Amino acid sequence: MWQPTGYNPDDFANRRHIGPSPEEMETMLATIGVGSLDELISQTVPASLRQSDDLGWEPMTEGQLLGHLRAVGAKNKVMTSMIGQGYYGTVTPPAIQRNIFENPAWYTAYTPYQPEISQGRLEALLNFQTMVSDLTGLPVANASLLDEASAAAEGMAMALRQTKGRKHRFFVDEQLHPQVIAVILTRARPLGVDCVVGPIEELPADEVFGAALAHLGTHGELRDLTPQCEAVHAAGGIVVVTSDLLALTLVKEPGAMGADIVVGSAQRFGVPMGYGGPHAAFMSCTDALKRTMPGRLVGVSVDSAGRRAYRLALQTREQHIRREKATSNVCTAQALLAVMASMYAVFHGPRGLKAIAERVHLWTVTIAEALRAGGFTVETQEFFDTITVNVGETQADVLMAAERRGINLRRIGSDRIGLSVDETTDRDVVTRLLRAFGIEDEPAFSDAPSISDGKLRSSEFLTHPVFHMNRAESEMMRYMRRLSDRDLALDRAMIPLGSCTMKLNAAVEMMPVSWPEFAGLHPYAPADQAEGYREVVRDLEAKLCEITGYAAFSMQPNSGAQGEFAGLMTIASYQRAQGEDRDVCLIPTSAHGTNPASASMAGLKVVAVKAADNGDIDIEDFRAKAEAAGDRLSCVMVTYPSTHGVFEETIREVADITHAHGGQVYIDGANMNALVGLAKLGELGGDVSHLNLHKTFAIPHGGGGPGMGPIGVKPHLVEHLPKDPATGEEGAVAAAHYGSASILLISWAYILLMGGKGLTQATRVAILNANYIAARLRDKFPILFQGESGRVAHECILDTRVFASSGVTVDDVAKRLIDHGFHAPTMSWPVAGTLMVEPTESETLFELDRFCDAMLDIAREAEEVASGKLTVDESPLRHAPHTTEDLVAEWDRKYSREQACFPAGAFRVDKYWPPVGRIDNAYGDRNLVCTCPPWGDEA
Ligand SMILES: *Cc1c(COP(=O)(O)O)cnc(C)c1O
Repeated sequence: MWQPTGYNPDDFANRRHIGPSPEEMETMLATIGVGSLDELISQTVPASLRQSDDLGWEPMTEGQLLGHLRAVGAKNKVMTSMIGQGYYGTVTPPAIQRNIFENPAWYTAYTPYQPEISQGRLEALLNFQTMVSDLTGLPVANASLLDEASAAAEGMAMALRQTKGRKHRFFVDEQLHPQVIAVILTRARPLGVDCVVGPIEELPADEVFGAALAHLGTHGELRDLTPQCEAVHAAGGIVVVTSDLLALTLVKEPGAMGADIVVGSAQRFGVPMGYGGPHAAFMSCTDALKRTMPGRLVGVSVDSAGRRAYRLALQTREQHIRREKATSNVCTAQALLAVMASMYAVFHGPRGLKAIAERVHLWTVTIAEALRAGGFTVETQEFFDTITVNVGETQADVLMAAERRGINLRRIGSDRIGLSVDETTDRDVVTRLLRAFGIEDEPAFSDAPSISDGKLRSSEFLTHPVFHMNRAESEMMRYMRRLSDRDLALDRAMIPLGSCTMKLNAAVEMMPVSWPEFAGLHPYAPADQAEGYREVVRDLEAKLCEITGYAAFSMQPNSGAQGEFAGLMTIASYQRAQGEDRDVCLIPTSAHGTNPASASMAGLKVVAVKAADNGDIDIEDFRAKAEAAGDRLSCVMVTYPSTHGVFEETIREVADITHAHGGQVYIDGANMNALVGLAKLGELGGDVSHLNLHKTFAIPHGGGGPGMGPIGVKPHLVEHLPKDPATGEEGAVAAAHYGSASILLISWAYILLMGGKGLTQATRVAILNANYIAARLRDKFPILFQGESGRVAHECILDTRVFASSGVTVDDVAKRLIDHGFHAPTMSWPVAGTLMVEPTESETLFELDRFCDAMLDIAREAEEVASGKLTVDESPLRHAPHTTEDLVAEWDRKYSREQACFPAGAFRVDKYWPPVGRIDNAYGDRNLVCTCPPWGDEA
C-alpha cells in the first residue's frame, strides 16, 4: 500500500529559514551532550523568565505571502506625487535595481569593519563621498546619515561642539522643510539649545552659535546665502545649509557661499520614495570640522604590500570607543542607498545629471509661465524645481481636481499650493497638472532657464574618471559585479557576528520592497492613498506587541541607536509630564557604545555600572549607584540577554530597584534573537525597548544600513511616543512618521511566513547553533561567561588571549579567517582580545562545521608558533589574508602556498580571494583622504 510521506515542502520556517535539518539537529545535540532541544533550552533560559503563552498566528507559505502582499499593496494608491518637501519621483535605472537593490551580494553585506573583505562597497561609498563633496563644494563628506532631518540636527550638534558651548542659541530658518525643523527642535532641547525659528531676514547672527539655513526653501525659493554665512562667521558661528544634489548640478554650491556644513537627502538619485525610506542622507563639511563629523567616513590607506586599500577612517570618534563622548550615536547608517545613489551618478555622469536637472527646471518654468498666463500668482521668485502658487479660495478645488487626474500637490496654508517637478515629470503630467488649474491649452515647453547668473554654478564637479566611464550597460553591469566580487557577504558564507544577527534575508521577503505599489508612495501622500501601508504597520505592531509584551510601538526610528534616543526622549517626555526632573542614566560597562552615546544626546548623565566576574551586572554596585542617584535617577539601560550572551537571572531585580527609585527601565532589544517566543521584554520589567528589525527580523544589513529600530512601550508611555514629523513641531526623531516604511515589509513578511511557532523554533535553533559552536571549540578557545549550566545563549565569546604569550593576536585570527573564506566574528567587543560568535538559526551544520574546522586549524597554527616551530612574524597567521598577488610573487615563506590559500574550510573551486592584504589603519588616519584618489597612481 502506498502511503503519503507527510513531508511538507512549503514549510518555510523549517525547510528554508532554519538551517539545520532535524537529523542535523540530532547530531548537534549529541555533540553538545543533551538529549533534546527542549532540554537544552531549559538549561539555557531560566524557567522563571519564560513566557507562559505561545505566539499565536499560523504560518503562510511563500506563495500565500506573495498573494497577500499583492492584495495589501493594491490598497495603496500610487499617484504622481508633486508634493516635494524633500521627496521626489525618480527613475531607478533597472541595471542598478537588479544589480544592487535586488542583489544579495550587495544587500546582505555587513558594515565594512573588516576592510579586506569590503573593498567593493568601500569603493562605492568613497564614490558617494566624492560625489557629495564635489556637488556641495566642501572637502569632506561622510558615507551617509539616516535622513535629511536628523542630518540637519547632527549639523547643529557639530556646531555646538565646535563652538564649545559659548552660546546656546541656534537659528532655524523657517524655510527648512517642516520635518527638518521638527527633528532639530527635538534634538535641541536635551542639548540645552534654544532654537529661534524665523525668516532669514531676521537672523540674529551675533546671538547664535550657528544657523541652519535652506539653500532651496521649502516653498521653492532659491537663495544665495553668502551674506548670512558672512554674518554668522563674523560672530564666530557655524552655518549648516540644507541643499539638493540635483539642483547643485546647476546652481552655485553652498561651499562657495561659505557654508561650513551641508546636508540633504540623496533620495532623488535613483532611490524610490518608499513612503518615507530608506534613503541616504548626506553631509559634507570643511576640513576644520572633519574630526567632529558624525557617522562613517571611508578613507584611503595601504595594505601590507603597499597597495592602495580603502577602510573606515577616524573610528576613534565613534561610540564604540568614545561612548558618551562620541561625535554621535550613528552606527547603522544607509550604506546600500548611498551605494545606489553613487551608482546613479556613475551611471549618468555629470552631463547626464545636469541634463536631468535642466529638464526638471525647464518643466518648472513651463508650469510657472502657464500658471501666470492663466491668471495665477506664482509667489516663488527664483526657483529650481518647486513653486508656490496662490490660488485663493480655490485651494480645495484645485487639490481635488489634481487628485482626480492622479496628481498629489502640496497644501500650504489655506490659500496656496506647492508643487515640485522631478525626473519623472513629462508632457503628460504637466498637461494633467495644468488642467487641474483649469488651463486647457497644451503646455509650450520653455527653453528659457530662469536662474540669475549670480546663482549659477561656475565650478566643475564629478571630474574623477569613475564618473566618466563608458556608460554602456555592459560596462556598468561589470563594474557593479567587479565591486561586489571583492566583498564577502551572506551569499557566500556565514557572517558570525555577535550582537549583529546576520540571519537569512529570504528572497521572498525582499520582493515587495521594489514593487511600485509600495515603492512609489510619497510619505506625505493623503492617508486614504496609503491604506495598504497602514494595514502593514498595524499588523506588524500587533505582532511585535505580542512578541514583546509591550502596549504599542512607534515605527519612526531608522536604526537601533535612533530607537535608543527615541526611547529616552519618550521617558523624558513622560517624566516631564509627571513634573519630575531626572537626569541620571545607569549603564553597565559592557553596554553597546550606542547606549551611552544616545544617553548623552538625550542630555543624561551617564553613570557606569560594574560587571561582576561572571559578566553579569554587579548588583551591589547597581544598587549603590541607583541609591546615590535617588530621585535624579531617570533610567537604566540594560541589554537582555546581556552583551555577554547570558540570561542574567537578576534582570527583574535590576528593574525592581530602578522602579523603586522612580526610574524607568530601558531594555536594549538588539539581542531579541535569543528571546522571541521564549520571553517577553515587557514581562522582564522593561518599560521601553528598541528592536533591531535589521537583526532579529530579517531586514538585511545592506553593508551598513538601512535598518529600523522601532520602540515598544508600556501603556503609561504610549502618549509620549514620537510625534508625526510632518507637523513641524518638536517631538519627532525622523523625517517620516514610519521611518523607512518600505523595509517594514521585510520584517512583516518574515513574521507572517514563520508563524508564531516558527519564530519560537528559530530562537531555539539560534541557541542550539551557538551552543554547538561552543561545544566544538571550547577545548581550544575558552568560552567566556557561560550560564550556571555551562550553556551560552544565542552567541558565544571565544577567548583568543590563550595565544597571547606566543604573540598571536585576535587580529591575526580574524584576518586568517578570511583565507578560510569567512568574515571574522565581532572582534574585541564586549571584551578585548576575544571573538563573539553568533551563528543565527539560518546556518546549517555544514557551514557551522566549516567554521569550526577553520577555527581549530587556526588554533593549530597558533600552537605551532607557541611550540617555536616558526615565529609569529613567519606564520601564516601574521601574513593573513593572502592575495593572489602574494602567491605569484617570490615565495620565501616558512609555509607552503597550499597552506596559505587553501586552509581548512576554504573552498578550492569557489575560493574567496581577498583583493588586498592586511590594511594599515593607522597610516590612513595619519594621511586622511576621503574622496576618490586619482586613477593610475595606485600605490
Ligand atoms: C546593533 C546594536 C545597537 C545599535 O543598532 P544600530 O541599528 O546599529 O544603530 C545597539 N545595541 C546593541 C546591543 C546592538 O547590538
